[in-house]
Amino acid sequence: MEFYQHALEQAEREHLYRRLVDYIPRDAVHADSEGRQYLMMAANNYLGLTHHPAVQQAAASASLTFGTGSGGSRLTTGNHLLYRQLENKLAAFKGTEAALIFNTGYMANVGIISSLAGKDDVIFSDELNHASIIDGCRLSRGRTVIYGHSNMNQLADLLTNTACSGRRLIVTDGVFSMDGDIARLDDIVQLARKADALIMVDDAHATGVIGPGGRGTAASFGLEGQVHITMGTLSKSLGAEGGYAAGSQVLMDYLINKARSFIFSTALAPATTAAALAALQVLSGQPDMVDRLKANAAYLRTKLNQAGFDTCGSTTAILPVIVGDAYLAVEFAQLLKKEGIVVSAIRQPTVPAGASRLRITVSAAHSLAELTKASQAICTIGRQLGVI
Ligand SMILES: *Cc1c(COP(=O)(O)O)cnc(C)c1O
Repeated sequence: MEFYQHALEQAEREHLYRRLVDYIPRDAVHADSEGRQYLMMAANNYLGLTHHPAVQQAAASASLTFGTGSGGSRLTTGNHLLYRQLENKLAAFKGTEAALIFNTGYMANVGIISSLAGKDDVIFSDELNHASIIDGCRLSRGRTVIYGHSNMNQLADLLTNTACSGRRLIVTDGVFSMDGDIARLDDIVQLARKADALIMVDDAHATGVIGPGGRGTAASFGLEGQVHITMGTLSKSLGAEGGYAAGSQVLMDYLINKARSFIFSTALAPATTAAALAALQVLSGQPDMVDRLKANAAYLRTKLNQAGFDTCGSTTAILPVIVGDAYLAVEFAQLLKKEGIVVSAIRQPTVPAGASRLRITVSAAHSLAELTKASQAICTIGRQLGVI
């Protein structure tokens, strides 16, 4: 045990120790912790759908009607009828032939990438891609080549100069999870065409956030049909849980047969599946939710930029505030918490050393008064800590 104890003590000294804090959600953007109410600005609940009455009702009814657990993997007896409805709805939303649900976005990435790229294949991966993409690359038997963040010249060079006897796969976050900027999908599509490479886009923070009606990255570029496989999660803007792949029927059938995280895990509970389906129906029927989210994010971003904060080129609902030092990021988040506002301090290894930051997330469910209060607190503390 000594080894592990020492490792924890070292993390503590370097301000990299992580601990769990309890929260009791009161609604989409407020939660209690240790007897006090907080404004939540760290969740990925971009549209507030976790607390939409139709979504909550769908989850409750599914539980009462069909039971609490699925009882099996999808290839045995866990493939509830609700899955087909959700997959059809997702495919229509994403403009693809088919879709396939996984238990989490993490499991979707790990399963998709390890299935699509085999021994002779090369994966080209943006250096800021999500950990679940990195783990998918590690699990695949292919070779992974990392290119600098959105560095299209380097990607072009690597595509030309990397020997590959099999297939090429370019994989990127659509909206980068810690920086909030958008992948240069128009360039990637052109490069992929020239190199005969497949494109995979992770829409975890793009679904419900960018593109017309929140349809995601490809739609935001008018490039629907040009991305071979899109993955995403049902746990962020859709307020439920689970991951998905969207693409051609052939690819989905391939994943059903090959993706180990799909095959060897018990299917999602009826409540979760029904909640995601209801959330997607709400979003399709009320695309103005996405406009409200965009307006809220623009409002806070403008306030922070005017005050002199570096928000890293973010154009989405994720607003990074770069502070550099891990200690400073933790201190900043703690002072904000004293003011009743929860934001995340993000340190290595989630982001590179020296690029520690606050990661502020905006929701359509935040009021302008709440965003104003948050921006004032962030500016006051930012000045006090010498960040601005
Ligand atoms: C959150 C996230 C995932 C994982 O999704 P979960 O459903 O939370 O497992 C994958 N990719 C990105 C970019 C994410 O931010």
